[in-house]
Amino acid sequence: MKPPRFDYHAPPSADEAVALLARYGGDAKVLAGGQSLVPMLNFRLARPAALIDVNRIPALAYIREDDDTVAFGAMTRQRTIEFSPVVAERVPLLREATRWVGHLPIRSRGTIGGSIAHADPSAEYPAVLTALDGEVIAQGPRGRRTLSPGRLFETYLTTRLAPDELLVEVRLPAAPAGAGCAFEEFARRHGDFALVGIAAMVVRDGAGGARARLASAGTGPVPVRLRAAEEIVERDGLGDAAIEAAGARAAELVQPESDVHASADYRRQLTRVLTVRALKRARARAR
Ligand SMILES: Cc1cc2nc3c(=O)[nH]c(=O)nc-3n(C[C@H](O)[C@H](O)[C@H](O)COP(=O)(O)OP(=O)(O)OC[C@H]3O[C@@H](n4cnc5c(N)ncnc54)[C@H](O)[C@@H]3O)c2cc1C
Repeated sequence: MKPPRFDYHAPPSADEAVALLARYGGDAKVLAGGQSLVPMLNFRLARPAALIDVNRIPALAYIREDDDTVAFGAMTRQRTIEFSPVVAERVPLLREATRWVGHLPIRSRGTIGGSIAHADPSAEYPAVLTALDGEVIAQGPRGRRTLSPGRLFETYLTTRLAPDELLVEVRLPAAPAGAGCAFEEFARRHGDFALVGIAAMVVRDGAGGARARLASAGTGPVPVRLRAAEEIVERDGLGDAAIEAAGARAAELVQPESDVHASADYRRQLTRVLTVRALKRARARAR
């Protein structure tokens, strides 16, 4: 099928993109990599009056690091992230998650901002943002504001970005020295969206204890931070028994729904198994 008719704008700056979004009063869509939006247009699941193409705004594509944080311009391609030495060294969880995102052509066009703004609950980047407790910067007609993942993700494919706001930056805390990370997921075919995905990071404290970060994808309308499972690791350490207990607790924390792809029970079981696998792999990598 072909998309319905739309006006097309390719502004050269974020300010002009925001002005165009405001002009259409909620009836325009931002076009980033187009990997989710174009299929939605073709299936006529989206019928915006206009597309605001932000691909010609070079100022929205960058990776910048400071002491504690790595910042990504919203238009940074997933493929750039996959091969960035800064990401490999400072946000290894994001690098690992990127390898699970679709296929090479999708990652060559798809962007970090588009993936997060699209808010597919099975997608990897929203789970990484949630696990690491990062933040996004939105720019609207009244200026910029910062949103935490808990504030940003509202429900399936829905964020709390206003229709005239552009997501301009994603900020992730750099991994502490010696951290071990792993992203585990299960999908029926390589490149498919995850039935369930688990993002994990652990940091040994040197006295037998550890800090942990855990979040799941594909287990409900938004990514889930598995805080009570993290607490088990923080209290009991990184031994096999504690990791098994954390996996069991993770399965209790999620409320997946049954759909054509998998039952809720199966997704809960995957949550347990993948949490254990992710924690064990993160443990093996932690120094
Ligand atoms: C076959 C296939 C398999 C895929 N598999 C996976 C997968 O396994 N995991 C995964 O995570 N993704 C997967 N994807 C989706 C892919 O990662 C997309 O790139 C991503 O979901 C959207 O990013 P995009 O840059 O293409 O955004 P677009 O498709 O251009 O936009 C998506 C939505 O976000 C909005 N948007 C985009 N950028 C902004 C912004 N800066 N500010 C405000 N709103 C914005 C758009 O208006 C639109 O509503 C797959 C896609 C395909 C076609």
